Amino acid sequence: MWQEDPLNSSYDAVIIGGGVHGLATAYFLARDHGMKNIAVIEKHHIGFGGSGRNTGIVRADQRTKETLPFYDEGLRLWPKLTAELDFNLMFFNCGVLNLAHSEAEMNAMRMNVASAQFLGIESEMVNAKRCKTLIPALDISDHPRYPILGGMYHPPGGNLHHDAVIWGLAKGASQKGIHIHQETEVLGIGLKEGSIDSVKTDKGTIETPRVLNTAGAHSPLISAMVGIRLPIHVLTTQAMVTHPLKPILDHVVSSEMYACYVSQTLKGEIAAGAHSDPWPNYTTQTTARHIKHEAEALTEILPCLKGVKFMRAWGGPADMTPDMAPLIDGNDHVRGYYMSCGWGDFGFRAGPVAGKYMAEFIATENYPDVLKPFTLRRYENYCMMGETADPVYYGPCN
Ligand SMILES: Cc1cc2nc3c(=O)[nH]c(=O)nc-3n(C[C@H](O)[C@H](O)[C@H](O)COP(=O)(O)OP(=O)(O)OC[C@H]3O[C@@H](n4cnc5c(N)ncnc54)[C@H](O)[C@@H]3O)c2cc1C
Repeated sequence: MWQEDPLNSSYDAVIIGGGVHGLATAYFLARDHGMKNIAVIEKHHIGFGGSGRNTGIVRADQRTKETLPFYDEGLRLWPKLTAELDFNLMFFNCGVLNLAHSEAEMNAMRMNVASAQFLGIESEMVNAKRCKTLIPALDISDHPRYPILGGMYHPPGGNLHHDAVIWGLAKGASQKGIHIHQETEVLGIGLKEGSIDSVKTDKGTIETPRVLNTAGAHSPLISAMVGIRLPIHVLTTQAMVTHPLKPILDHVVSSEMYACYVSQTLKGEIAAGAHSDPWPNYTTQTTARHIKHEAEALTEILPCLKGVKFMRAWGGPADMTPDMAPLIDGNDHVRGYYMSCGWGDFGFRAGPVAGKYMAEFIATENYPDVLKPFTLRRYENYCMMGETADPVYYGPCN
């Protein structure tokens, strides 16, 4: 699928992290800008981080005018990429239903829907009856702790297979001449007169004028190597799958109030996830507390899942920023140093679109307008993004 190449002593750019963001940027640097003398350096194997651990949900149903068009463009890229990579990314455009269990949630969703519609993105408010028509297995009675009042339905959303995305992008990048070095760890970054000069790895030192930090949860540690502190804290996000079932769920369903979301994989497993753990850590472990929580939440919303067993559970560290929006910046504090991180537990959906614009930024040195709101300086300038203004994000289940 991708070639094994020798580690050269110099590259035009070094990308740290073989996740969806690093690989997508490498692919677009070669595809759109003819920059092929690039190394992707990955400490473990590609997809080891969040990119190989996520639940593959993709959507453009946030709130702000900065994020909505960005994620919308991202959604429209998946079918095109499937064709051009000649690799089945298993994009299932099944639609996403976010459930509301209180008037406050309904109001928050009305705002999201209004923002989406204003920007020409398909999203609509639905009542409880329509939720039931979309997903007949839902319990819309008053039996659950938090009865379903309605929700926000976003037809363009869906899911993909995370491994397929990583392998497809790696194949595409490698075919265009990008070097992917697995089991190679970045240990330091050399600077000369305030500019990037080299990258020290456990396999040797590379001379390069450009570094892109796409190291996910480890991005603050990489950034510290050039003296930049990032406002990122790392929280583990857990997910799990049940044994395979006949098809019962042909949409992604999510509930902030119950802190859970769920979809059915092509194999028939019910894949479930939730918010990040409330304590900072770098582990990939799961907790009994979380598994119990998911079981309770899912069987209240979808009672037919009672008695179904979880087969596997896993966790992945997520790099969270204070305003739940990424940090996409570069060439500012240190010349030649770029970063695309702080993707938290929502960054898979944006991999290709962020990679496309980051490649443009690195190749042309012009900061694309669409990325400017995500600058690190927004924290200095008190221009935080508005994604956290959700009254139920830290709802009763947390
Ligand atoms: C359980 C779970 C569920 C999720 N569900 C969704 C979802 O449904 N939808 C969605 O959009 N997002 C989801 N996410 C979030 C998403 O997975 C991440 O935001 C995204 O994958 C981040 O990609 P990345 O390329 O920035 O980082 P990563 O995929 O984490 O890649 C970073 C890589 O850098 C490598 N690295 C670190 N340090 C070094 C070093 N010193 N030298 C070399 N390499 C290094 C790591 O090994 C890693 O492979 C979920 C995350 C988790 C954990």
